[in-house]
Parts: sequence; structure tokens; C-alpha cells
Amino acid sequence: MVAVRVTCPAAAEDEVVTLLWERGTLGLEQLAAGENTSVMIAYFPSDAVDGLFGVVRAIPGARAEPANVKPVDWVAQFRAGFRAFDAGGFRILPAWEEGAASPGPRTLVVDPGQAFGTGTHETTRLCLAALERLAASPGLGRVLDVGTGSGLLAIAAIRLGARGCVAVDNDVEAILSAARHARLNRVSTSLLVGDGGRPLQRGRFETVVANLTAALLIQKSLELTGLRSAQGRLVLSGFLEPDVPELRDAYASLGPLEESRDGEWAALVIGPARA
Ligand code: SAH
Repeated sequence: MVAVRVTCPAAAEDEVVTLLWERGTLGLEQLAAGENTSVMIAYFPSDAVDGLFGVVRAIPGARAEPANVKPVDWVAQFRAGFRAFDAGGFRILPAWEEGAASPGPRTLVVDPGQAFGTGTHETTRLCLAALERLAASPGLGRVLDVGTGSGLLAIAAIRLGARGCVAVDNDVEAILSAARHARLNRVSTSLLVGDGGRPLQRGRFETVVANLTAALLIQKSLELTGLRSAQGRLVLSGFLEPDVPELRDAYASLGPLEESRDGEWAALVIGPARA
């Protein structure tokens, strides 16, 4: 990993930050900035800095140069700051804390790493809360978790009494992380690498949970809906409050919708289709 010091006019900061992410930065650290100038350290994989200095300089007033700082291990830093916390009725416990070796029925053990889904995100918590409500009534039945990430929702579903859970992700790393988390939590889930619900039989799941993005949920509305059984429910999240009307439209004909929110994030639970 290499560190690059980037200086630019404050007005160009958004443009520069976007460029750095596009060029594959692993993380940005804002240094004390003057009123007119913004200074940051950007970390890159060693093989990703070719041509970088030139494209930064193409933004008027911006420049980039090698920075003489010790690279930060973001994953290690995140892990070091990670503490146990409550999410709905669950206790999220880092794998290295006492009690993680024999997790109780409302504990989710996480080993924060690369895959999304350590329970810290609002959308994960909204899905957890929705699963808890459905578990209380009418029960979860067979569960499908589309975009499982680290597998937290799948594990929670099993803890909440699901009759089995299938978890899909199109990212192999996520599925490896989900396998690791299933082991840590001592639950058994069926893990698949695949795109959305494509690898799966239709009409089989009483609960389908999908914490993706608004665009994907809209694009896949028929595919996701087709996965649930006649009495099945859909739990959707991964979108912001302003996206809700478009999502409601995409799923309008399917059954009553129930909306919940956490900050600016939203979730929808869609009931069985009306007869
Ligand atoms: N379910 C977890 C993680 C959600 S993040 C939670 O609620 O916290 C979204 C996940 O969806 C990511 O792991 C991403 O790899 C996966 N994903 C994105 N597009 C997908 C697709 N087309 N099919 C399957 N999974 C997808």
C-alpha cells in the first residue's frame, strides 16, 4: 500500500474525492484543512498509482505527491474500535469477546472484516427488526437472504426460528465471510454464490429478505416477488427515504406494505398478495 498526499482548492474537494475513489483508493484521511485549501492522505494498493498524479493535476489547483506516512490498516483499525452493541433484540458481539465461543439465542457473533453486515448499518438493523416482528407473527418459515454479505440476517433468521435459511450473494468473498460467520455462530445455513434469486426455485420461501439498493430492488422486483410462497413476505431495505415512493410503485400490486425508518434509511415489509 502507498500513501499519497493530495492538496486541492476546497471548492474542488468533492471532485477530487470522487476521482480518488474512482481510481481505487482504499481510504482517505482528511488532514487539517485551511479555509481555502483541502489536504488529505489517500491510500492506494501499490499497483494502482500509475498515472494518478497526472489525473489529479488535471483538476485546476490540485496536486498529488507521495506522502511519507505509515499506511493505516483500515480493517485492523475498524476491528480495534469495534465494541459489542444491541441491535433490536440482539446483542452483536465481536468474535474476540468473552461469551463469543458459546453464543446465546439472541447473540450474533461478528468478526468485522471486508464483507458488509456487521449490524452497524441502519439498513441491517431495520431488516433485523422486521425479521423479529415477522418471527413473532406469523413466523418466518423458510427464509431466503438475498445479498447476505457477512450472513448476519441469515444467522438471525435461524436464531428466530426459521425453518432453514438459504443465503445468496454475488460476491464470493461475502459467501466466504457468511460461511465463517455461520460457523462462529454455530448455525447452519445454505450458502450460494449467485445473482439475486436466479439460482433458486420460485415460490418456495415464506420470508425473502433483501438488503440491496433501490435500483437493484426495482430492477429485480418480479424476480424477488416470484421467490416467495403464496403466503410469503418480502423484507426490503438498502434505500433512503426519498426512494420509498418508487419502491412502493415497483411492488404496489403485491400486497400491503409496511414502512419503517431509521434515520434517513428505510425498509419495507410486503405482505402476501391479496386474493
Ligand atoms: N444482508 C447484509 C448485507 C447487505 S449489503 C446486511 O443486511 O447487512 C448487500 C450485499 O448484496 C453485498 O454483500 C453485495 O455483495 C450483495 N449483492 C449486490 N448485488 C447482488 C446481486 N445482484 N445478487 C446477489 N447479491 C448481491
